[in-house]
Amino acid sequence: MEYSAQQFDIIVIGAGVMGSSTAYQTSKRGQKTLLLEQYDFLHHLGSSHGESRTIRATYPDDYYTDLVLDSYALWEQAQSEIGYKVYYKAHQFDMGPSDSESLKAIIAICRKKSLPHRVLNSQQVAQQFSGRIQIPENWVGLYLDKGGVIKPSKAVSMFQTLALKNGAVLKDNSEVKEIKKTGGENDGVLVVTASGESFRGKKCVVTVGAWTRKLVKRVSGVELPIQPLETTVSYWRIKEEHVSDYAIDNGFPSFASYGDPCIYGTPSFEYPGLIKEWIEERFSGRVDSSEPVMTQLCMYSMTPDEDFVLDLLGGEFGKDVVVGGGFSGHGFKMAPAVGTLLADLALTGETKGLDLEYFRIGRFSDNPKGNVKHY
Ligand SMILES: Cc1cc2nc3c(=O)[nH]c(=O)nc-3n(C[C@H](O)[C@H](O)[C@H](O)COP(=O)(O)OP(=O)(O)OC[C@H]3O[C@@H](n4cnc5c(N)ncnc54)[C@H](O)[C@@H]3O)c2cc1C
Repeated sequence: MEYSAQQFDIIVIGAGVMGSSTAYQTSKRGQKTLLLEQYDFLHHLGSSHGESRTIRATYPDDYYTDLVLDSYALWEQAQSEIGYKVYYKAHQFDMGPSDSESLKAIIAICRKKSLPHRVLNSQQVAQQFSGRIQIPENWVGLYLDKGGVIKPSKAVSMFQTLALKNGAVLKDNSEVKEIKKTGGENDGVLVVTASGESFRGKKCVVTVGAWTRKLVKRVSGVELPIQPLETTVSYWRIKEEHVSDYAIDNGFPSFASYGDPCIYGTPSFEYPGLIKEWIEERFSGRVDSSEPVMTQLCMYSMTPDEDFVLDLLGGEFGKDVVVGGGFSGHGFKMAPAVGTLLADLALTGETKGLDLEYFRIGRFSDNPKGNVKHY
């Protein structure tokens, strides 16, 4: 046993947006926090770097709508503490075939949550956006004010800076190799890095993105169905005379399209080969669909049901190790709420006001596909 290891209340492993947000939360609550990252801070090999992420309250599952609504307030709160902006308000526009089950479920949730919204037919869409967006006759659009754009690298940096200001210790180039249980129940863990440094933590939060399966398996033997998936972000050039038409400050919304292919955007798009035609048709030929002007690699960490994993690791670790992973291409917007939940879980063993049913590790034991979806 290492007696020389530095002692912390909370050790957070992985400094993407989830780990950085968690470290911000725990340090804000006066906990002595250590944030460990395997590469340089703000590196480009994980999921949290880049130019833009969308935020929208439009989900077919209301447990996400709640997390997003909480996150809007928490993004504002963190911004007011740091003094600069990472989140930019915009309307949200969802579109798709009128019989799309996802879109129908989203509209039902808007009603259930009393979110002011309008459902538009194709003529109303053309009118609303002055021809900037066109949808087929048999599609509908959903328009509401709960959208927006977040600058991801700047947001991660914001959480790290705030954590630092709150007294957290941040260490990069520190790959965690081992998490070992020390003593009895609730006696904490010993975290060991590749260079042999070790740290004691009363609690530990694992937020290692696409590396979750590997690290959790190594330290506990638990096999989580979280698959890394490399994807490309593509940026498209708006034709010169139309640049201002698609600007956020000119009322252009963040958007989602539930047709085939399924697309979320502003201003970034994915899967370039599949969407040239989509861009040409939806944006009335005003965006150059010949090729993207820039592409960037990024990692998704996918669960089979695309729901997050937010849970205590359990087993010999009891309530000492918390796992936050599998954010499956849609987690960024909820990072402030996720950080709050992971901090609650680590500090109290439970979460306030959120039933973790949909996020438990155990959901995969009964059904390898996880949560059953009806859309
Ligand atoms: C192209 C793309 C577009 C997206 N668009 C949106 C969007 O519009 N809206 C939205 O809400 N979400 C979106 N997402 C999803 C969102 O970005 C991710 O859900 C989120 O960034 C996940 O963050 P993370 O902290 O879990 O993972 P990461 O950012 O990958 O962070 C994990 C960190 O852990 C570190 N690490 C790993 N192993 C170890 C170890 N052993 N020791 C120490 N450190 C370790 C890694 O180096 C990494 O820095 C998108 C994702 C991608 C890739």
